[in-house]
Amino acid sequence: MMTSNEIRKAFLDYFASKDHHVVPSAPMVIKNDPTLMFTNAGMNQFKDIFLGNQQRQWPRATDSQKCLRVSGKHNDLEEVGHDTYHHTMFEMLGNWSFGDYFKKEAIAYGWEFLTEVMKINKDWLYVTVFGGDEKEGLEMDMEAYDFWKAHISEDRILKGSKKDNFWEMGDQGPCGPCSEIHVDIRPDEEKAKVPGRELVNKDNPQVIEIWNLVFMQYNRKADGSLEPLKAKHIDTGMGFERLCMVMQGKRSNYDTDVFQPLIQEIASKCGKHYGDNEQADIAMRVCADHLRAVSFSIADGQLPSNVKAGYVIRRILRRAVRYGYTFLGFTEPFLNTLVPTLVGQMGHQFPELQKQQELIQRIILEEEQAFLRTLAGGIKRFEDYAAKCNSKVVDGDFAFELFDTYGFPVDLTQLLASEKGLTVDMEGFQRGLAEQKERSRGAAKVESDDWQELLPGVEQEFIGYDCLEADVRIARYRHVKAKDKEFYQLVFDHTPFYGESGGQAGDTGVLKAENGEWRVVNTKKENGLIVHIVEQLPEDVSATFHAAVDADKRQATACNHSATHLMHYALRQVLGDHVEQKGSSVDPQRLRFDFSHFAKLSQEEIREVERRVNAMIRQCLPLEEHRAMPIAEAQKLGAMALFGEKYGDRVRVVKYGPSIEFCGGTHVQNTGMIGSFRIVSEGAVAAGMRRIEAVTAEAATDYADRQQEQLMALNEMFKGTKDLAGSIAKLQEENAQLKASVEQLQKEKAAGVAKGIADKLKANPVLVERMDSDVNALKDALMALRGDNPDMAVVLGSVTAGKPALLIVLGQNRVDAGLNAGQMVRTLGKEIQGGGGGQPHFATAGGKNPDGLDKALAVAKEMVG
Ligand code: ATP
Ligand code: MG
Repeated sequence: MMTSNEIRKAFLDYFASKDHHVVPSAPMVIKNDPTLMFTNAGMNQFKDIFLGNQQRQWPRATDSQKCLRVSGKHNDLEEVGHDTYHHTMFEMLGNWSFGDYFKKEAIAYGWEFLTEVMKINKDWLYVTVFGGDEKEGLEMDMEAYDFWKAHISEDRILKGSKKDNFWEMGDQGPCGPCSEIHVDIRPDEEKAKVPGRELVNKDNPQVIEIWNLVFMQYNRKADGSLEPLKAKHIDTGMGFERLCMVMQGKRSNYDTDVFQPLIQEIASKCGKHYGDNEQADIAMRVCADHLRAVSFSIADGQLPSNVKAGYVIRRILRRAVRYGYTFLGFTEPFLNTLVPTLVGQMGHQFPELQKQQELIQRIILEEEQAFLRTLAGGIKRFEDYAAKCNSKVVDGDFAFELFDTYGFPVDLTQLLASEKGLTVDMEGFQRGLAEQKERSRGAAKVESDDWQELLPGVEQEFIGYDCLEADVRIARYRHVKAKDKEFYQLVFDHTPFYGESGGQAGDTGVLKAENGEWRVVNTKKENGLIVHIVEQLPEDVSATFHAAVDADKRQATACNHSATHLMHYALRQVLGDHVEQKGSSVDPQRLRFDFSHFAKLSQEEIREVERRVNAMIRQCLPLEEHRAMPIAEAQKLGAMALFGEKYGDRVRVVKYGPSIEFCGGTHVQNTGMIGSFRIVSEGAVAAGMRRIEAVTAEAATDYADRQQEQLMALNEMFKGTKDLAGSIAKLQEENAQLKASVEQLQKEKAAGVAKGIADKLKANPVLVERMDSDVNALKDALMALRGDNPDMAVVLGSVTAGKPALLIVLGQNRVDAGLNAGQMVRTLGKEIQGGGGGQPHFATAGGKNPDGLDKALAVAKEMVG
């Protein structure tokens, strides 16, 4: 039996033998694409080539791509665990032709690989082709049909609808018919009863799609029409785990060696046997699957958080914790303890897991702890609700609130409800869910027109490393409508503007022509293009414009970016080599840098990092820049690749003395230009992850000035002292002593008053009195008197700091006789323009009108008689 690692290798070897370039998996977390958070198909990393924005590096490629399908167009989350062949994170094996071979070869390769290399029984296979669509005016894909006929009998070629057999990248862009390969792994006797062809695309877990061959031949325009593509492409995707299932003779992806080590470890940890109980089995599958998804995301630099991609990851993790908690009895964190097994099994193929094992484990542990607390809070919330609930049905809005704020999947709420003999209003819940989806869809909605090409075929060039101004022409533009604004995107033939990417903010600036001036309010990088955003479109779009970047802002950003490199270097020197960059953002105001490190930085460490960076600034290290160095050479120089980043074969290297980084950003010519560097904050972002914010140049001077001003103000207050810190400490100490003695005095005073009241009660159990100190301080003392004075009826009033207050305490006999302190205080409270409440034996009220206090006490006297 082939192991999963052998199967993956066989695939890549096969396509390499057909002249395909083997490329590494791109990161699963996508950083510079506003339309997509996670890689959900192998083709994502080639999107710019298919869109025609980027030249192909090779005509053919093959890879195994980490994918995550938990949001947007592809969301399999709810299936995962319940079925046996959908995962959140999975590997997609793919082969690609960029304008090279087309349908004939793609079909022949697919068939040969499955039947000759993998030796899958031909009688188990079915294929589908696009059957045409009247509305689109598209005919059936006869080409694909005819090519398949050469390999497989016609009764195994099925026609599919647009839904299953027409693939689109999005609302716009490249698309085309596709052809799927399905495999029937049912036992022979079942095959004899129902032929497999009747079960294709019918959600049967044992007649499933394993491979999709996409034939990209059209471009979908903004108005919905299709135009033929000049260069036709092949894009295929095969589920690696599904292939392993077929090859290892299993009926479930989870029974393969990809998942079994995890499943078995979960089973032994919870003391259950996998395969005994459907609900527990589902939960084990959920935990095994989700652990992979979360670990790979963290390895790619995406931590669980409260927003966007981070929130998606947090939800996956919580789903696993919740299934473990409810169905496997894991009331303590456990997922993190599975990380070593995952790393042992996949770390070889994915070194990013191995290198960051400790970090991944710590972050998962912290998340688990936090969520287990939330879970307990949510369950308490549910119980309080159920105790008060008069109906047999749990309100849908409440179920939605549990889902939304406590991360309670609705089936957990249903489970809790059924334990109390209740049901959940599912319609109401679904309504809440639909409304929320609608809200977030509305918020994210962006409508882009088609690009208007003015200079077709022009390849855009970035010239902003060398100059800040240039004469440019518009190569293409389009109109975009987002939530509450409209703007135009311009692409130039060449541009000095830096487009936001790699954590560096985009340039702003101005375009000038004879008849006007237009502000470039931002510059972004989208699908490999540098896109300039302007609010108004110049009338004459074919003019030549003088484009000028805002030089001051660019300079400030460059100082911050270069200082980030120096600080990264200094951090590794001061703290150690385990420091890895985890996120970086630079703009004209400041720099922010996230990195792995397991403890808070001491003041001494922070000062040391500052000292080292400032020393490198004073050395005036010149910028050494290599624009297109082969990646191996760059690594030899000592530049470190970051996890979760995608690099081409050639990279840009930025070097200042000993600091060497892969970087596409803009930098100062000489470190001396940074002038000065100050760390303004240091803190935790997550377990094992720190964040530093710092300023440079003028901002650093301003920062130092503000600190100096504060110090001078303090010196002014402590005139004459030589030891400012000592003086403040002394003052604090004195203050604490004074506070303690005031408290002591107050206690003694209250005790004295209480003693006086006790004496008075001996003579007369009814006491209505105005006092000169806060009545609330007497509460405990009076409550203690109740035991010995069952007939007592005490009403005290006071005015402190201009505010009136009332306190009522009744002995048990009084309460039994029908007096009620809570009701009394409501009536009396009105006299002092206030309100209060309490129980039958004890109540308080506060108010606004001290003049009404005497009246209130007079009324009280009547009440207690
Ligand atoms: P399905 O209908 O089974 O959900 P799909 O049509 O969504 O599949 P594609 O988008 O064509 O699948 O993806 C290509 C291949 O990736 C599929 O043929 C399948 O083998 C695999 N695949 C898709 N989704 C998943 C998933 N959630 N988990 C594991 N493998 C998957
Ligand atoms: Mg699917």
